Amino acid sequence: MNIPIPLVDLAAQHAQVAGEVAEGWAAVLERTAFVGGPQVAAFESEFAEYVGVPHCVGVGNGTDAIELALRALGIGPGDECVLPANTFIATAEAVVRAGATPVLVDCVEDTGLIDVAALEGVVTERTAAIIPVHLYGQAAQVELIRPIADRARAMIVEDAAQSQGARRNGRTTGSLGDIAATSFYPGKNLGAYGDGGAVMTADAHLAERVRLLGQHGSPSKYVHTEIGFNSRLDTLQAVVLSAKLRRLEAWNDARRLAAQRYGKLLHEVPGVTLPVVADGNEPVWHLYVVRVSDRDAVLERLHEKKIGAGVHYPFPLHLTKAFEHLGACGDFPVAERTAGEILSLPLFPEITPDQQERVVEALVEAVNA
Ligand SMILES: *Cc1c(COP(=O)(O)O)cnc(C)c1O
Repeated sequence: MNIPIPLVDLAAQHAQVAGEVAEGWAAVLERTAFVGGPQVAAFESEFAEYVGVPHCVGVGNGTDAIELALRALGIGPGDECVLPANTFIATAEAVVRAGATPVLVDCVEDTGLIDVAALEGVVTERTAAIIPVHLYGQAAQVELIRPIADRARAMIVEDAAQSQGARRNGRTTGSLGDIAATSFYPGKNLGAYGDGGAVMTADAHLAERVRLLGQHGSPSKYVHTEIGFNSRLDTLQAVVLSAKLRRLEAWNDARRLAAQRYGKLLHEVPGVTLPVVADGNEPVWHLYVVRVSDRDAVLERLHEKKIGAGVHYPFPLHLTKAFEHLGACGDFPVAERTAGEILSLPLFPEITPDQQERVVEALVEAVNA
């Protein structure tokens, strides 16, 4: 009864690909080509096809992917990039590292996604990019952002780190904007065994720029046409990602089933607000986020019962020390209020109905305590 239920169960996932990974890694170790190689190129083309874009460039991690996408677009000092206040800090970090200025915008309450209506108030002629985040595995309304971006002559850079396989109106995230970044951090829906990331785009020139910048600005060995940096997808990671990509659709289906099950178990529980799926969206439930009042107490009670619930994220960016200059308390009221209510429940493809019932039982008790 008291066996812990983790937020994500990477061991259960590894068990399914262990043989394939061991075989693939043995081949890499034998050739000792640890950077680049056919495995990276193979994964890049598999993932591009999966997303439905012509180009995918593997990079070192998701943060680099966003930075490289911005740099490839020529975005830097003097440019502003608009992004939601409620995201992982990496979205804003990447903007700063590219030399540009992050500008925050609020989110909507029911989905937690970027508030498209609020964009009108912050997009100016200095706006070079809008960075919608497909938060918790659900696509932002990119088609509504498009006319706003066009008017400002700004690019749309998707942060698709949490949304591998998620679709909006039938199209896969990563193919909705001008360029997109994703992360293969181990806990993502498509996770490597270390850091990894990728940039996706339909624009061959942009893809070429990303590849050049992530390889020391070097189009061929010892030729350096500009100052870049080192950000590449490891060969060993590419092997893992190819093996996992073949199972991603099934895993995302299992996540949807688990989300449905939570919905059924929780829909009449007073004091628990369920996540909402926006019209047109087919989410992949990177996280299953409910809202409760007195969240910190509820979280503590769940942890006492060994339920690995989490919070994504406890502070909007402008309420972190690092980015306090981006806004004052009260500037993004929805992000601020919901940050104190959101609670991520354990959800992973292998979660069992029994485990989910235990989570729900503990949650009901915690909310009523
Ligand atoms: C994970 C994540 C990133 C960054 O990815 P890393 O690979 O950890 O650098 C960026 N944005 C969002 C929304 C994420 O969840």
